[in-house]
Amino acid sequence: MLGIDRVGVAEACEVPDSVTDGYRRWLDEGCSGSMDYLDRYHDVRRDPRLLLPGARSVISCAIAYYHKSKQPAGIPAIASYAHGDDYHDVVRRLLEPLAAFIRETWGGETRICVDTAPIHERYWAVVAGVGLRGRSGLVIVPGLGTYCFLAEIITTVEFSPTPPLETTACDGCGACVVACPGGAIRSDGTIDARRCLSYLTIEHRGKLPDSLSTGGRLYGCDCCQQVCPHNLGVKPCSHPEFDLSPAYNDLTRENIASLTPESYATIFRRSAIKRAKLSGLLRNLRHL
Ligand code: SF4
Ligand code: SF4
Repeated sequence: MLGIDRVGVAEACEVPDSVTDGYRRWLDEGCSGSMDYLDRYHDVRRDPRLLLPGARSVISCAIAYYHKSKQPAGIPAIASYAHGDDYHDVVRRLLEPLAAFIRETWGGETRICVDTAPIHERYWAVVAGVGLRGRSGLVIVPGLGTYCFLAEIITTVEFSPTPPLETTACDGCGACVVACPGGAIRSDGTIDARRCLSYLTIEHRGKLPDSLSTGGRLYGCDCCQQVCPHNLGVKPCSHPEFDLSPAYNDLTRENIASLTPESYATIFRRSAIKRAKLSGLLRNLRHL
């Protein structure tokens, strides 16, 4: 639908206590690392109607980003979600026509969330039947796997909810737990960010532990996705914006080490990698 690969609808209401309690426990156990922003706006995170007064529906959307283009051998690895244009911009562009269609057809208001608002987006994706929560903490979208961005349109229009999926995801697997280089996947299917290379190389500010080796990963980690059987045979997505940027083919260790603020800004102008900043990339380079 309009370039959105999967859509589901849930009634806008408070999330269950089990979700907020689990989230609180995860924070209290320090698993969010230094991402202090995750410990704010709990009232809003609990109830999406605080993001849009009068909201009646949460439309959960999955946008696939799996693509076949790969970084050349020997080049420090960048997580595949960040190979192309910044997903915040691309996904918002994809959702805007649907939001406009809703406003024009049914009236009411809409609010688009693309990692830009406190919302339990994985919970909403599962409740709306878009996917299943995997042991890796990621949402598995049948037929698309885990290589998907999640986003939401919250609207004051009341739509009929779509039911949660009735299948299960991980029976007897555990491949992601075994493969995770940091041992970050907890028994309850949440991630201890302090052990997760994705967090450490992207979100974490400041020094990394001296002994840390990222195993050749410069930005992010795809390990739990690469081993997930739900990603086997997934077709490349229909969004060329997520293909590998040709500029990344030349990002050898030497070329990264010699990046200047100007060349960094040019190469990553349209990329989510901006988030790590040049100082972050140079820091990660020392831990490859
Ligand atoms: S992204 Fe990497 S380090 Fe983080 S949980 Fe997945 S496999 Fe583990
Ligand atoms: S790798 Fe296996 S256990 Fe992990 S999310 Fe995928 S199916 Fe579930």
